[in-house]
Amino acid sequence: MKNHVDNPTNYASDLEKVATPAVRAKLIKLGISRAQDLLTFFPIRYEDETQVVSIADAPERELIQIEVTVIQAKVEFRPRRQLVVSVQDVTDIASLRFLNFYPSQQRMLEVGVRIRVVGEFRLNRQRVKEMVHPRYKKILANDELPTTLTPVYATTKGLGQVSIRKAVARAFTVADQTDTLLPIYLSDLGLPSFSRTVKTLHRPQADVDPALLKDRRSEFWARLSFDELLAQQLIMRKNYDKREQYSAPIMSPINSRMELFLSRLGFKLTNAQEIALSEIQADMSERLPMRRLLQGDVGSGKTVIAALAALQAIDAGYQVALMVPTEILSEQHFKKIESWLTILDVSVERLTGSLTKLERSQTSDRIKTGLAHIVIGTHALFQEDVVFKKLGLVIIDEQHRFGVKQRLALIDKGADKLNQTHQLMMSATPIPRSLAMSFFGDLDVSVIDELPPGRVPIITKLVSNSRRQEVFERIQDTCRSGQQVYWVCPLIEESETLQLETAIQTHELIQAQFPHLRIGIVHGRMKSQEKTRTMEDFTNGSIHLLVATSVIEVGVDVPNATVMVIENAERMGLSQLHQLRGRIGRGSGASTCILLYSSKLTETARSRLKIIYENIDGFEVARADLQLRGPGEILGARQSGVPMLRYADPERDVLLLEKAKHFAPDFLTNHPELAERHISRWYGSREKFSEV
Ligand code: ADP
Ligand code: MG
Repeated sequence: MKNHVDNPTNYASDLEKVATPAVRAKLIKLGISRAQDLLTFFPIRYEDETQVVSIADAPERELIQIEVTVIQAKVEFRPRRQLVVSVQDVTDIASLRFLNFYPSQQRMLEVGVRIRVVGEFRLNRQRVKEMVHPRYKKILANDELPTTLTPVYATTKGLGQVSIRKAVARAFTVADQTDTLLPIYLSDLGLPSFSRTVKTLHRPQADVDPALLKDRRSEFWARLSFDELLAQQLIMRKNYDKREQYSAPIMSPINSRMELFLSRLGFKLTNAQEIALSEIQADMSERLPMRRLLQGDVGSGKTVIAALAALQAIDAGYQVALMVPTEILSEQHFKKIESWLTILDVSVERLTGSLTKLERSQTSDRIKTGLAHIVIGTHALFQEDVVFKKLGLVIIDEQHRFGVKQRLALIDKGADKLNQTHQLMMSATPIPRSLAMSFFGDLDVSVIDELPPGRVPIITKLVSNSRRQEVFERIQDTCRSGQQVYWVCPLIEESETLQLETAIQTHELIQAQFPHLRIGIVHGRMKSQEKTRTMEDFTNGSIHLLVATSVIEVGVDVPNATVMVIENAERMGLSQLHQLRGRIGRGSGASTCILLYSSKLTETARSRLKIIYENIDGFEVARADLQLRGPGEILGARQSGVPMLRYADPERDVLLLEKAKHFAPDFLTNHPELAERHISRWYGSREKFSEV
């Protein structure tokens, strides 16, 4: 996509016109790089400094402003050093108390000085009205009271409100405030103009209805939400439309081959799988490159659909790349897909960061010459030296796990070639419809909304750490009966080393408890060959219990594992817990997930664990998680560091979102320059990050 600075309709960086270099550096930290960005950087609240009350009339315990003269200022020691300032107006006297103060403050507050003070009155022990640590300002000659409310902005260390306010005020003199919305949208939605919106929200008149400023549903905030949602939809739509410039190979499914595949599978596809498959098949039979997201809860059977899509591409004479986020998963997919496809004379290869130089160059050769039909790997797949002879389909599993950077790298590299391929993204993060519409507006979505038959629902248990011993006994029974156990170590985000040590200690501890059981361990720092060997041993049952860090979170599929213990479950995110739990309950036996929690749980931690305890459906978990953490976190790396929406909330503003989605195509087609200006106003240089 075109960079915004190339585009004359976009706003140039003109921050030097509104702020000094020191202030600029701070503003940039806040994501403000243009004067325009200051206009769309709205206050988080307001203070009313437009009125003063007399000391006699001033109510207690309310934020008010007084205009007074200093009559005495002295430092007292009772018990701490503090500055006590007596002030008066024509009605009464009052006291101001400062527990921390600078000598400069003391000098400024000298007898006779007139100040405006904002704070709350309480009665002190002498029954005198007193403010503790009020804000105050010296009154200069003809220093009139402001007529607008004083905005308070979210800020960063070292950047005061006064500096931001100044910068915003200057931005009003240099930045464009003309509307980017067509009048018809405004009248249809009953929204105010951009200029009125920014003016009202940055400098509200003293008599403005407070609800208009506070209530996020008020017309001004609705205008911001709509603008943002529209900008987002425009970007999505542009991405979506961009496909029409490209063409991907037409790949018709060969039914006899597919039937052969399915007949050897040992199970029948579920209805939901059938539907998703037919949507994918239809996409791949078209010239328009497929951009489809396949969503399905953990264990819903996405891998087999990926394999069928791959088969279709291979049968049409093309190569397939299947990218996964971890080596363990790539290994496992490799095994599974190889077992399914080799019989059909498909050559399955793997390419990960851990291959030896020789292996890597041999694999690269087979990819280059077209001998390799499907290549499964981590993002090593898209490194420069990997050249496909005839790549036709790219599948990205657990797509939410890939960082924005990796995805951008993927786009930047051989973008043109990649654009000519069909792409299937798979994700186990089920998200509410409004969010999907908002954040995945550039993708077609298929959903597998049922689990394969015969699965016995997982039982989730919350167990206090103090009852570990019982848990040990329980897992011993499980292992004796021939089933297997995952033991997930606590998440220690602060330190990878500590995380590792904990895993190793846990392994030793459990092994000591059960000398007759075979206990394995996997963690992120292990050599990938060791990892592979351990996973193999676990898969074929020669390890009874696997101690693991959250490296096993995604994809791992060992149906005979029926118990999972998660230590310090309260430290993990809900979606992560759900993913982890999805590693069991994959066979026909009953499975149990034991969430161990430390005995001192906070209220929030307790309510989070309750959610995971009560909901087995990933959709419900995601919904609850969304309410707790907001969309950015749920969608993972897609938005990491790049908040796509600052003011809009797709759930709350779903009606505006639908309108935005509805308007976007027409806006782009009939008013492309205005649309660009709109995108630039709201996203500026962040646009690139929203690409898939
Ligand atoms: P996910 O959607 O989480 O990636 P997988 O593709 O790993 O799920 O599938 C989970 C398990 O269910 C695998 O062992 C897979 O072979 C099996 N499976 C998939 N589809 C079906 C089906 N229709 N009937 C029975 N088992 C199935
Ligand atoms: Mg999977």
